[in-house]
Amino acid sequence: MHPSATTDIPNSGWQQELARAYTRVADLLADLALPALAESLPEDILLRFPLRVPRGFAARMRRGDPADPLLAQVLPRSAEALPAPGFVADPVGDLASLRAPGLLQKYQGRALLIATGACAVHCRYCFRRNFPYAEQALGGARLDAAIAAVASDPSLEEIILSGGDPLCLTDHRLVQLLQRLDRLPGLRRLRLHTRVPVVLPERVNPPLLAALAGLRKPVAVVLHCNHANEIDGAVAAAAAALREAGASLLNQAVLLRGVNDTVAAQAALAERLFDAGVLPYYLHQLDPVAGAAHFAVADADAVGLMAGLRQRLPGYLVPRLVREVAGDPAKRPLF
Ligand SMILES: *Cc1c(COP(=O)(O)O)cnc(C)c1O
Ligand code: SF4
Repeated sequence: MHPSATTDIPNSGWQQELARAYTRVADLLADLALPALAESLPEDILLRFPLRVPRGFAARMRRGDPADPLLAQVLPRSAEALPAPGFVADPVGDLASLRAPGLLQKYQGRALLIATGACAVHCRYCFRRNFPYAEQALGGARLDAAIAAVASDPSLEEIILSGGDPLCLTDHRLVQLLQRLDRLPGLRRLRLHTRVPVVLPERVNPPLLAALAGLRKPVAVVLHCNHANEIDGAVAAAAAALREAGASLLNQAVLLRGVNDTVAAQAALAERLFDAGVLPYYLHQLDPVAGAAHFAVADADAVGLMAGLRQRLPGYLVPRLVREVAGDPAKRPLF
């Protein structure tokens, strides 16, 4: 057989890469040379929120290191089943903020569209881990209704595509959605909240970049990256391509015990982000979602960390430490 017949990469290369993601804990731990780390997990942990880790993201983990900060974000733990006071299914009041199916508004002038329920990686601390994605994900008539609700509200200036992860939509659906929003005269800017360029940089492909470059409205892409080790050459190249397509790049991280809860880890993240053309935006205090209590950092420790970071970095590289409080008119600054 001609060798190229088996090595041609189809257009949907990123979808194939996503399909190859780890879904079995044993496979991931075997490839990391950490078989002893496998815990016997209560079965419903993985049924409710399965493992999903793209191979390229796992390749950035240190082999043989049970404390690797990337592994810690995605490895299911039996601790998820422990009840923790104050840790609940919907900690940020998402279900109470629905304006239309798939359209959440909490703050003045901007609303968030749940473009899809799918994510390329499953982060164990995720505040949406218990969110009824499938019921709110938009398609067909529901998407039309959500866009009509946006179009009829002159107070909305910005739409945030979120999820799940909007970059998990197919090229066709994502490009169509961006172009429909771009045509709404009342909107001033568009925003994407996505972890995909970090965990699956292959998805930042020519059709997406061409669509972004063709939009009339300014676009902000808010990445989600928690640790400097998440940014390798492929991620930096994806970020550079997004910038070339005209997007402003920001990052939000979640403060996670054992992952990025030191001044050194936060400083390295900020510096690596800036090297890749991304400005730190928010550092989120963990939303108290059921199953994530083992990631929590006390407010006093978080504030102390920020004081250390302020001494260490130029002001523009210091993210804002915030907490989302249901009913508040904006994210609440803690420092
Ligand atoms: C976090 C969030 C936003 C964005 O808030 P900014 O402070 O503008 O980044 C918008 N809508 C909802 C529902 C949110 O949860
Ligand atoms: S990518 Fe974002 S929405 Fe998806 S699981 Fe991770 S934190 Fe949650």
